[in-house]
Amino acid sequence: MDEAGGTTSQIQSGRRSLTSGHRHRVRGDWSETWRGVPASELLELRELESELYDRARIDARWRQGEEFLIPGAELFPTVTLPDDKFHDHCGVFAVYGHPEAAKLTYLGLYGLQHRGQESAGIAASDGDQILTHKAMGHVAEVFTEEILRDLHGHAAIGHTRYSTAGDTDLKNAQPLTVSCQKGQVALAHNGNLVNAGSIRKELESRGDIFQTTSDTEVILHFFARSKHGGIPESIADALDKVSGAYSLVMLFKDSVYAIRDPRGFRPLNLGRLNGAWMVASETCAFDLIGATYEREIEPGEMVILDPRGVTSLRYTPPAPPSRCIFEHVYFSRPDSLVFGRSVQESREMLGRLLAREHPVPADWVVPVPDSGVAAAIGYAAESGVPLRFGLIRNHYVGRTFIEPSQAIRDFGVRLKLNPVRQLLNGKRVVLVDDSIIRGTTSRKIVGIVREAGAREVHLRVSCPPTVSPCYYGIDTPTRKELIAANHSVEDIRQYIGADSLGYLSLEALQEAVGGPGRGYCLACYTANYPTTVQEPLIALRNRE
Ligand code: SF4
Repeated sequence: MDEAGGTTSQIQSGRRSLTSGHRHRVRGDWSETWRGVPASELLELRELESELYDRARIDARWRQGEEFLIPGAELFPTVTLPDDKFHDHCGVFAVYGHPEAAKLTYLGLYGLQHRGQESAGIAASDGDQILTHKAMGHVAEVFTEEILRDLHGHAAIGHTRYSTAGDTDLKNAQPLTVSCQKGQVALAHNGNLVNAGSIRKELESRGDIFQTTSDTEVILHFFARSKHGGIPESIADALDKVSGAYSLVMLFKDSVYAIRDPRGFRPLNLGRLNGAWMVASETCAFDLIGATYEREIEPGEMVILDPRGVTSLRYTPPAPPSRCIFEHVYFSRPDSLVFGRSVQESREMLGRLLAREHPVPADWVVPVPDSGVAAAIGYAAESGVPLRFGLIRNHYVGRTFIEPSQAIRDFGVRLKLNPVRQLLNGKRVVLVDDSIIRGTTSRKIVGIVREAGAREVHLRVSCPPTVSPCYYGIDTPTRKELIAANHSVEDIRQYIGADSLGYLSLEALQEAVGGPGRGYCLACYTANYPTTVQEPLIALRNRE
């Protein structure tokens, strides 16, 4: 028995089962079959299964009406839809000075839903006490009219979460609300602390008890422990001990604080609505409620919203800015201003520069929806090759679905994307996407376009090869799983089955977002991290 409770023979028999090439009926429950097998083994089995599945698909035996099908498929009867993208950690929103603060926060969170779909929460203050409601699920599922009515008051903060540090669990949903000697406080965090592990250990050794497994809670512990009497001083004291990415909103009985880390990894913006103040990760949340965008909250700035109005403080010495460039490439909504720039304009420029660097004779430019649309518009405009929507996305597909009685795992991509055959048949197609992470989805999409009759398929990617994981609040695969970390561009082209493959250069990427020297983090393309990252975090991301 290994330490996780699985038996060695289970693992060995899984390998045998996968490599035997024998056909199996779909049966059983995957989690039951493999209960207790360590995650590292499961990953290996899953990769093996995926490879064998591809072989089986190429054989297309299921199409010949055979009873069934795919070697080892009984291991994975529930299909997780391929989602070969980075995921943002969270979105934060805050309101101060509006009688319906919680309702506005609820609407603001709708605008930030793309930044996190695992859980959502709102904390509201009526001046006497802070009430919090949070639950797993989308904003629309978490809140009802009744719940929002109970969250009364003139100030509120909200959060949508996609976990990168800490488990996927209600206890880690935010805002985190605590009572301490400085009164009640609620905190919502976008980003990831790179030294949370060691400082948490230190606090635990001193007797502190943690309620969550998220990195965010250490900020509250340091805040509560601070010897300073004032709130801004105590916050500054707490933040002095943490390192990494944090865009925070904090709610007290009669004030809201919005704070950005000194490098400004994640965005944070200030807005206004009829005399009330708003804070949001992205400006698209302001648009939804009719608020106006005032300005970006600067790296290293603490903005206090209270009965005196708006106060701005520098709570820490300046550091070289490291804004996340991937916010412009992929994370943020194109209708947002991020770091003071239009995301749509950045993405179109990425596409234009991509066309200059990687031209190819073609009939159509086809975006991979929805992520490649803006860059494809730019590519088409620059190249003169007409843009056509040759892949149609089904917007009503969740992350997983129950597999039908016959195992047809390819449904994953097909459920999401369907080719317009009449458009693609016999054509030379430039497919434009914003990134290749593992390569598995790109491979399937290229296959779909080919099966629809395309004569040539050229894949163009509007960022450089992604070679290193992120430690600053983005959910990324391990280095081992990042295809570009381990393979040349030519290897990747062969793997995905494209006629040609072109990535945007690092220089062009920087030019598209305002030019080099504008203070962007580029670490997922260069592996040059702007901060020290602690070993346990590296081990977690790079387990091999
Ligand atoms: S490593 Fe990449 S995803 Fe993470 S902050 Fe830097 S640019 Fe953004």
